[in-house]
Amino acid sequence: MLIPDLVGNGEPFISLEFFPPRNEEAMPVFLDTVQRLSRLKPLFAAVTSGAGGDGATGTLQTAQDLCEKQGLTVMPHMTCVRNDPSSIAAQVREMRSCGIRNVLAVRGDFPDGMASAPEGLRHASDLVQRVHEADESLCVGVAAYPDTHPESSSVDQDIEYLRLKFEAGADFAVTQLFFDNRKYFDMVERLAAKGCTKLVIPSVLPIRSLGQVRRLMSLCSTPIPGKLLAALETAHAKGGEQAVREVGADYAATQVRGLVDAGAPGVHLYPFNRAGLCLDVVERAGLMPN
Ligand code: FAD
Repeated sequence: MLIPDLVGNGEPFISLEFFPPRNEEAMPVFLDTVQRLSRLKPLFAAVTSGAGGDGATGTLQTAQDLCEKQGLTVMPHMTCVRNDPSSIAAQVREMRSCGIRNVLAVRGDFPDGMASAPEGLRHASDLVQRVHEADESLCVGVAAYPDTHPESSSVDQDIEYLRLKFEAGADFAVTQLFFDNRKYFDMVERLAAKGCTKLVIPSVLPIRSLGQVRRLMSLCSTPIPGKLLAALETAHAKGGEQAVREVGADYAATQVRGLVDAGAPGVHLYPFNRAGLCLDVVERAGLMPN
């Protein structure tokens, strides 16, 4: 059940990222979406924690539901900014009592009015250490940035901090979304040159609308290739959002296929709590499990 151990047989895998449904009423639709996506036989399901600064809670409960009701291996996210160092051990105990064995430790982004992370939890590496102090058998993932984290002054500095997260005890990494596969392989090579060969799972976002692209670019500052943006805008002008979705699906399928063909172990996809587009992308990429 530890994520790196599940990646064993060389078959490329798909993993999925969800955010907790807004309320109890939204849960049945959410579980139905997850059920539809189970055709992909995801290696694991990640559940975000307040991503985008919306303050949403319910990460652990959602992860527990996915584990118990859908039989999925789950990976709840934990952030520095939404945690007090003293509460981490209790959370880790709660995870273990629900059978959760994997967690993604990220710093998070500071909500308005919060100048810095809580004392003792300035960086994701601090959280990795605290989680391991609480339970060293828990498998801890961290975030990686093929396009470099926006606060980093250079690619080298960013890679060095990623290496430090591994040194602090991280077992694997999941990347930020990116659109240029060369950036991912370059990052993996740079890490290997520093002696770090742990699992790094690339993330792909299938684009469904122009509005989504703009929102995401402002949130995570991933550059979008000019040609892709132009193709999306042209599609929108000619055929509206349906045509944008078509371009997005094609681009994501080509990107996914390119990643696994060039040796990536699998791909982490963002369904945004909807099933259709990701199913379509995996089908087009020729990776739909039998
Ligand atoms: P860190 O690793 O702490 O890095 C932050 C910055 O500090 C970087 O510039 C880094 O180079 C630098 N740095 C790192 N270590 C050190 C050090 N020891 N000394 C000095 N500088 C250092 N956000 C959410 O709020 N909720 C989520 O659920 C969530 N899920 C995510 C999942 C993935 C796969 C990814 C890629 C991101 C996710 N995020 C989420 C966003 C993330 O919280 C932000 O990108 C945040 O700005 C950085 O988080 P981090 O864990 O990479 O931080």
